[in-house]
Amino acid sequence: MSSSLIPRPPPSLSSRHQPTPRSVAVIGAGAAGLAAARELRREGHAVVVFERAAGIGGTWVYTPAVESDPLGLDPERHVIQSSLYSSLRTNLPRESMGFLDYPFVARQKCEDSRRFPGHREVLRYLEDFARDFDLYGMIRFETEVVRVEMDGDRRWAVRSKEVDKDGGDEEEVYDGVVVCNGHFTEPRIADIPGIDAWPGQQLHSHNYRVPDPFIDQVVLLIGSSASAVDISRDIAGFAKEVHVATSPLHRLKAHMKMVLWYSKTEAQPMLTSLCIVRGTSIIFLFLKPRVLWTVDDNCVGPLYKHIFPPKLAPGLSFIGLPWKVIPFPLCELQSKWVAGVLSGRVALPTQIEMMEDNKAFHLEMEVNGWPKRYTHNIGKYQFDYDDWLATECGYPVLEEWRKLMYLECGKNRIARPESYRDEWNDDHLVAQAWKDFKKLSL
Ligand code: FAD
Repeated sequence: MSSSLIPRPPPSLSSRHQPTPRSVAVIGAGAAGLAAARELRREGHAVVVFERAAGIGGTWVYTPAVESDPLGLDPERHVIQSSLYSSLRTNLPRESMGFLDYPFVARQKCEDSRRFPGHREVLRYLEDFARDFDLYGMIRFETEVVRVEMDGDRRWAVRSKEVDKDGGDEEEVYDGVVVCNGHFTEPRIADIPGIDAWPGQQLHSHNYRVPDPFIDQVVLLIGSSASAVDISRDIAGFAKEVHVATSPLHRLKAHMKMVLWYSKTEAQPMLTSLCIVRGTSIIFLFLKPRVLWTVDDNCVGPLYKHIFPPKLAPGLSFIGLPWKVIPFPLCELQSKWVAGVLSGRVALPTQIEMMEDNKAFHLEMEVNGWPKRYTHNIGKYQFDYDDWLATECGYPVLEEWRKLMYLECGKNRIARPESYRDEWNDDHLVAQAWKDFKKLSL
């Protein structure tokens, strides 16, 4: 799936072209929106960031509150953005996780200098980033985008509304819209025949915060990736029994070791609680009607390189869709590319070429037996993708230590599921990272 990531020849970096500043609306002030805002402004664009919450950080703003429907199926429920649980520590080491020119290092008066810090430290880092790059002034807080539509001149009407206020909508027109609304908020529920008849409590991990409600319960956890591993361990300290159900695909994998190592029982008694950790869905309620692109089974398409719908490019773009990645640097590189394309400094292929690229990509997925819902799972080629983006916009490729550190962390997580956040063997990579960080005069 990486074959179409062969760098294109230099003409894409158009030195003849005087960059043209545009007016751009960014939707969301999480990590992706902040990266986009910074890169767009660096490129000379006039940027407004719409954020429906009262602060920046998106996912990283922990709240003990949960949604009224613990499974997240009720469309009328009050939506909570964050899926964080109280005990969450990062699953990536901080050196690899941070933005490329703004390392995620323990700063002065840091309360959590661990290499895999708790979620509050990540929010603090994002707040520092927003402050140090003077991004707050660009953000309209508590303002939700309710509709985005392209007009006849290929400009974008953005309708927004102040949250919890009686006033009406406001409409403004922009040259471009960059969508950074996150994709961990809408629960994706396992399709299990007969589950509705089951009398116990059911909960999606999006609404899991603390283990206390599971004291002395018998719990079945459906899922096996990062959140499932953490949550099952969290609950295991309190519950009577924890059982973990995974797909056959995952059962074969070494990382089942990670979820089963603390198993308290082999028996199959009556279950009283069910915790579903089966991923999240992508939704864009404000983008209507979707004639030229669709969202189907977690696949946004057609998109050129997971960012531009060919028929709406470059006006509409999406940052942060890929998963199984190091998200912050990826969002940063995607943002650089979008900013360069919008100004005309970086050229896109023709609409037909972009459509063909997308078609070839899906064909390759099909040949490899890769399900549609994995369209944006780029884990197998994320670094080729990052490097392709960097090359397209004339930026250095990702540091070697960052790539190796990510791979090392993955191996360590399997080898030491219970302690990978506190024991590791890659101090030599940390030293290389610091060499680079020092060049940034930290
Ligand atoms: P979000 O953080 O979700 O931000 C989206 C923003 O858009 C929100 O602020 C929201 O309020 C706003 N918004 C949405 N719709 C609208 C609208 N209509 N109008 C206005 N504003 C809107 N990544 C790591 O690097 N390391 C980790 O250890 C890690 N652990 C994770 C653990 C969990 C449980 C989860 C769920 C994710 C984790 N991630 C981790 C991934 C994490 O989601 C990304 O790092 C990153 O925070 C995603 O940022 P985002 O901006 O794309 O989305």
